[in-house]
Amino acid sequence: KKKIAVMTSGGDSPGMNAAVRAVVRTGIHYGCDVYAVYEGYEGLLRGGEYLKKMAWEDVRGWLSEGGTLIGTARSMDFKQRWGRKQAAGNLISEGIDALIVCGGDGSLTGADLFRHEWPSLVEELVADGKFTQAQVDPFKHLTIVGLVGSIDNDMSGTDSTIGAYSSLERICEMVDYIDATAKSHSRAFVVEVMGRHCGWLALMAGIATGADYIFIPERASVKGKWEDELKEVCSRHKSKGRRNITVIVAEGALDNELNAISADDVKDVLVDLGLDTRVTILGHVQRGGTAVAHDRWLATLQGVDAVKAVLEATPETPSPLIGINENKIIRMPLVESVKLTGSVATAIEARDFDKAISLRDPEFIE
Ligand code: ADP
Repeated sequence: KKKIAVMTSGGDSPGMNAAVRAVVRTGIHYGCDVYAVYEGYEGLLRGGEYLKKMAWEDVRGWLSEGGTLIGTARSMDFKQRWGRKQAAGNLISEGIDALIVCGGDGSLTGADLFRHEWPSLVEELVADGKFTQAQVDPFKHLTIVGLVGSIDNDMSGTDSTIGAYSSLERICEMVDYIDATAKSHSRAFVVEVMGRHCGWLALMAGIATGADYIFIPERASVKGKWEDELKEVCSRHKSKGRRNITVIVAEGALDNELNAISADDVKDVLVDLGLDTRVTILGHVQRGGTAVAHDRWLATLQGVDAVKAVLEATPETPSPLIGINENKIIRMPLVESVKLTGSVATAIEARDFDKAISLRDPEFIE
């Protein structure tokens, strides 16, 4: 009987539970045993009770729940070879040789590395006397399938990641609340949103709430000039009778000389313009709450495909990453997508904007 493990890793995102539910139930449907790994890679290292065989009813009611009910953790030990060896030993002890990982680029990089090292880790476990050759013979290869769980929508090659639309929805709700009070008092608000190196949340929230100005990492704000432009735009909107001003700043926003543009920097400029200005850093409310419908169906369809990908995998197939492109669930090579994502982040950090824009899905950029 095929045994599959599913885990969530890295930052939590709404929809991860729907993904785990889909994997558990699809696995059972196809006659597999499905195990949930609790606490991400940390649980893989600990083994035992951290690897729990899941029944159909164990994931009942999980579709809408935010966060991840099987836990997530950052594991320094999994970054070490000895940690991955221990994890391999725990999987073999349970008879598991397939792992579906729902996480961000870090988690997926770790998963692919684990797969490549697997044969040598197993050899070492035999040499260490932990297992006999006969015991490890059925576990020659580890199958890895990736699902992207991230509120940032920062994976190359896929239109949306699990959690991004829930986070966007939350941000828009919060900005709507802020707009109500801002309008009442004729105030300006600078709202900082998450997204790491990716401006998707800030850009989409800005469009969806009709913000006056948006700062994203992918667009260079020219030092010494953005201040004037911001003032000019806000004054124009004010002169047309707009009572409130809303500026959205992505946490990764930088100017063309690599200086971070913070919400406070923006506030100073608005105060200089004579506006009564407040800063709101939305913080972790952006990760919480129930998953929106988009993330529920995305996680469900991708979870189903992840199990199918496990069952169709051969030792030669590169690890797939389940994505979505033009409303179709797709499989793409995990390593390449992660690498491209990394190079976008690097290009943005290096302020190589043209490169960043051409690497990233172009429809999101002006
Ligand atoms: P995310 O998956 O959201 O990008 P992290 O980068 O924190 O989050 O990665 C989550 C976990 O994945 C880390 O705590 C670590 O255990 C594992 N991991 C990340 N990068 C690697 C790597 N290069 N090699 C092995 N494990 C890694």
